[in-house]
Amino acid sequence: MTGGVDLVVIGGGVHGAAIALFAARGGMRVTLVERDALARGASGTNAGTLTMQMTRAALIPYALRAHDMWVRAPEWLGHDVGVVSCEGLSLAFTEAEEALLSERADARRAAGAPIRLVTPQQARQIEPGVSPAIRMASHCTIDGFANAYLTGLAFRRALVAEGVELREYTTVQTVDPSAGGYSVHLANETLRARQVVFAGGVWLEPMLGWLGVNLPIKTLINQLAVTERMPPVMRTVVGIASGLLSLKQYPHGTVVIGGGWQGIGNRTSNTHSVRHSSLIGNVRLAMHAIPGLGSTRIVRSWTGFEAETADALPAVGPVPGFDGAWVCGSVHSGYTSAPYMARCITQAILGQEPEMPLFPIDRLLAQPGTDTKTQGHRRE
Ligand SMILES: Cc1cc2nc3c(=O)[nH]c(=O)nc-3n(C[C@H](O)[C@H](O)[C@H](O)COP(=O)(O)OP(=O)(O)OC[C@H]3O[C@@H](n4cnc5c(N)ncnc54)[C@H](O)[C@@H]3O)c2cc1C
Repeated sequence: MTGGVDLVVIGGGVHGAAIALFAARGGMRVTLVERDALARGASGTNAGTLTMQMTRAALIPYALRAHDMWVRAPEWLGHDVGVVSCEGLSLAFTEAEEALLSERADARRAAGAPIRLVTPQQARQIEPGVSPAIRMASHCTIDGFANAYLTGLAFRRALVAEGVELREYTTVQTVDPSAGGYSVHLANETLRARQVVFAGGVWLEPMLGWLGVNLPIKTLINQLAVTERMPPVMRTVVGIASGLLSLKQYPHGTVVIGGGWQGIGNRTSNTHSVRHSSLIGNVRLAMHAIPGLGSTRIVRSWTGFEAETADALPAVGPVPGFDGAWVCGSVHSGYTSAPYMARCITQAILGQEPEMPLFPIDRLLAQPGTDTKTQGHRRE
């Protein structure tokens, strides 16, 4: 291919931005195309939890390495994203949650997470703010959270410093293979690249459709709420065993209540909004877990799209049948694992052996015509 760049990354969420950064550091000429501002979707509005307790067991080895990367963000990203490293507790209030907690803690521990089951008394020594009504908790010494809002700012600075061509507020219309690479069609221009990465979050399905590849992606509509600033009520990341909710208090005093019952939305029109009954349910559950929240006020609630594959494992690997085309997304608790997933796939893009196995999408491909409507699911 003459002209063009080595790599066009489509989608400037945390996956696309990190791949663009690592590829540029690996010596590639890279263009990143994002139809909004960088990391303004899920990657900039998520709950920021960097946790093993909501991460699927198969992803624990990735999440542990990624957690370490987030903690050391100033070293490789050059900028702080407000990371607080702390312990985490997942709580069981019912017999069924107790069983779920034990099973998941066992699986995650076997995968390398430093998780152990603790009694209610031990849990309250670790986190005095937790409800006395719990039956059991699992405790993980590696947990924490970032300020996701800072993600776009941090990556933008790093990408610009690394010489990546940033095309924000630019929508890719379609992509097609062309001699020696790919043509990436914008409204009034066509970019050419030897390789292309699809990092479109919930829009991976229509993106791969440009190549005639049918990758069904479910759309979860996660809902968050934040309280006003309040005196310290908790010092760990607290989740509920069923995986419905996570809570943490930021250093300036606000508490973010994340996950839980879902909001309302539509991927095709890219619209989503708060479902009030979900908000009430989520806040009630949060107050049940951390009674000290009882007197606070919710100042804001918002929603975002999270992508999930049929088997809830990532779509990270080559696009079958298309040399030099790659897909990266649908990682459960994707913000936590993103920098390490991006590192691994970038190694493959650079022609190296990835440090850890990728998650090829062959297993997920559906026959053309399969119905994959937007679905409202809860986070695990
Ligand atoms: C409300 C919420 C809370 C969450 N909480 C947590 C949490 O606490 N911890 C955790 O680990 N994970 C959490 N997640 C999940 C996490 O945010 C996502 O897994 C992760 O951010 C996905 O990153 P991504 O880069 O794959 O996708 P995205 O961030 O969705 O980025 C995809 C980008 O592609 C762009 N795009 C789409 N179509 C085009 C096109 N045609 N041309 C150009 N650009 C295009 C979009 O504008 C978008 O910016 C949460 C998600 C949500 C929504």
